Order: sequence, then structure tokens, then C-alpha cells
Amino acid sequence: MAYNRLLIIDDEPEIATTLGKMGRRSGFDTIVTTDGVDFLERLRAWDPTVLMLDLQMAEMNGRAILGELIKRSCKARILIVSGHDVEALQQAKEFGLAGGLHIADTLQKPLRFDILRAALKAIFDDAEMISVPNIKDGIRLNEFYLEYQPKIDLRGRRVAGVEALARWRHPARGLIPPDRFIPFMEASGCIDEFTRFVIDAAAAQAKLWRADGTDLDIAVNISGGSAGSPDFVDVVRDICADHQIDPGFLTVEITETAAMGDVKRAVNFAQKLRNMGVTLSIDDFGTGYSSLLQLLRLPFTEVKIDRSFVMDCGESLESRVIVTTIIGLAHNLGLRVVAEGVETGAIADYLTKLGCDEAQGYHFARSMPGERIPLWVNQWSARASGPESEG
Ligand code: C2E
Ligand code: CA
Ligand code: CA
Repeated sequence: MAYNRLLIIDDEPEIATTLGKMGRRSGFDTIVTTDGVDFLERLRAWDPTVLMLDLQMAEMNGRAILGELIKRSCKARILIVSGHDVEALQQAKEFGLAGGLHIADTLQKPLRFDILRAALKAIFDDAEMISVPNIKDGIRLNEFYLEYQPKIDLRGRRVAGVEALARWRHPARGLIPPDRFIPFMEASGCIDEFTRFVIDAAAAQAKLWRADGTDLDIAVNISGGSAGSPDFVDVVRDICADHQIDPGFLTVEITETAAMGDVKRAVNFAQKLRNMGVTLSIDDFGTGYSSLLQLLRLPFTEVKIDRSFVMDCGESLESRVIVTTIIGLAHNLGLRVVAEGVETGAIADYLTKLGCDEAQGYHFARSMPGERIPLWVNQWSARASGPESEG
């Protein structure tokens, strides 16, 4: 499948057709639709990398579609187009950004084709820059690195560990987030090499922290493809041996969808890792469709509730029900529960009351470079054991 997939929605058929032609001329695999339901279905089935969305349509509300994209944690880059005034465009952009969407640009109607062409070209070139040779060079030249986000034990309020999150510091393009390069790596077959790099970097970091008196477990994100590769378990064992560190420091986070893709293989690989002392965690839980039975078959020890539900807890009854249910279900299965995306103290308190075990999110800390972690942990511990401790 081509990497540059552009999905366009505009309810005026003639404009839609013209936009489609321009998309194709700019190098994109392009699909055009005039219908909201069709748009959302193609979004799911085709997984476009770029969206062009008309905000002002007769039969549907462009802003409602943006809301739907937020709900689905859409990773595509989005061009918002509108015949409304600049202010409405700006508001839509801010709404999207606040919801975690990647708003690439906003364009005012009537569209000036030179401006549209330039916007599409910028997005296309940006995506082209993410190529296998560039990634291999990037790994060799140390442009990739890991940041670490603390996970907090909600009962003891101590630091329970950290999650390693990959970053690409590109010399020309600046900091590139993982949502931009991981899907490409998965599609192009270089994710295994990257996974090796991540585990190696995490093992080296854990050793460094230990030498410094900070003993922290590290969770790494593993793509379904890497987890399924036959030598993954050996890779983990060899890297730990190289760094003379026990594999027990490692937690492997694998998304619910990836874990359930090939259950038989997943059970096999998970059991081997468990035997080595590695902790297994199901990431983004609640977004897939796994059944209770499937969950029981896998030797996982931890469930991470997807941040979309956690972030929504304050406003949405539905999200509160989902979070409460996952915590109850996981505990009944003997699994530990981690909530990610905790952005406020109120939600942290709510999760504590529900008996959630661990939490992670901007309320506690953002991800940070490894060298800043020991100081952060010390400051946190001092605060947690101080007179104003929340217990
Ligand atoms: P994830 O595993 O669900 O990671 C959590 C993401 O949520 C991170 O984004 C983190 O920065 C963000 N986050 C943490 N707390 C909050 C919060 O309170 N509010 C909000 N709005 N966001 C929060 P990041 O670093 O951009 O990573 C995105 C995704 O990229 C990860 O999602 C993971 O699926 C993938 N990823 C990151 N590093 C790696 C890696 O080394 N290997 C693989 N295969 N995937 C990775
Ligand atoms: Ca994760
Ligand atoms: Ca997650």
C-alpha cells in the first residue's frame, strides 16, 4: 500500500473532483468522497495518512467530523478547508489541536490552487523525507533517542517505573514524534531493527540509572510485527546479556489489536518472555475488540487503559463506565491496571478511588530525557513523603 494516502471530503461534487485531481498530481494515492458516512468508513478501512476536510458542508457538520476524528485518536495529518471566515478556521484548528489531532494547515475558500498545491507539496515532501535509507542513517547517526515518562503508583504515590517513548531529532526537520515514523517503519519492514535499538537504549539507560542509585523498571512499546518475529525473545535475551542486566527490568507494551491478531503466536511469545521475568502489558486497552476469553489466554500481567477514555472521564459518563468496567474486569483477572493520559488531579483522585493501580500523564510529568529522570524521581519522592503528602 502506498504510504501517502489522501482522503478528501467535500460535499460539492465538482470541487471534490478537482481536489482529487490535484491530490493525485501532487503524488498522493487519493480517494474523494462527498458523504460523511462514507468518509468515516474509508477512514477506518483505508487508513489514510492525510485528510482534507471541508468544514462547511450542507448536510453534515465538519466540526462534528473533527470531533469524531478526535474520538478515534486519528493519526493522519489534516488540512481543514472552509468558506467561513479566518476566525472559524482558527477555532476549528484550535479545537483539533486541543483534541490531539495533527492539523497540518488551514485553507480558505475559494481555494487558490497555487496555495493548495504548495500545502500538499509540503506534506508530501515531509512524508517522503521519512524513508528507509533516512531511517537507517538516523539510527546510525544517533538521531533517534528515547524519552521517559514516569508511571506513578496511586496507593503509595511512589514512582512505579517509566515508559520509554521514541523521538527522532532530525537535523533539518527538528523533533519528529513517533506517530509519524513508527507506522512507516511498520509498513516498510524496518521496525524490527528499530525495536532492537529501543530495547538496547532502554537497557543501557537502566544500567546508567542504577549506577546512579535510581532503580527503575522501563516499559517499551513493541509493534505487533516485532513481537511476532520468531527471534524477538532471543533479541531481548542477548541485549540484556550484553548489558549484564536482568530482563526483569523490562515491561513490554503491546497494543490490544496487535496482541489479538494472532493469538496462538502471541501466547507462545508472551509465555517465553514471562519465563524470562519480563512484564507484559496490553496497551491502548478498550480500543480493540478482544473478548474476555482471549484476554484470559494470554499471560499478561498489566492492562493500560487507553488515554481517550481516561482524558474523557471528567465529561463523559460513557468513558467513566468504560474505565470502571476495565478496572473491575482486570482486577477480577488478577491484572494490574495502569491509566494513561491523566491530565488533572481530579481524574487522578477519581482513579485512586476506583482502585486503579498506576497512572501516567501530564498531571504528573511529561516525557523527559533520561538524564533528567533521577532528579525528577528524587523531587517526587521528597514531595510524596513530605508533610503535605496526599498519602
Ligand atoms: P502510547 O504507547 O499510547 O504512548 C502514550 C502517548 O501519550 C505518548 O505519546 C505520550 O507522550 C502521550 N501522553 C502521555 N501522557 C499524556 C497526557 O496526559 N495527555 C496526552 N494528551 N497525551 C499524553 P508519544 O510519545 O507521541 O507516542 C505516541 C505513540 O507512538 C505511542 O503511544 C506508541 O504507540 C508509539 N511509540 C512511541 N515510542 C515507540 C517505540 O519505541 N516503539 C513503538 N513500536 N512504538 C512507539
Ligand atoms: Ca505505550
Ligand atoms: Ca497507550
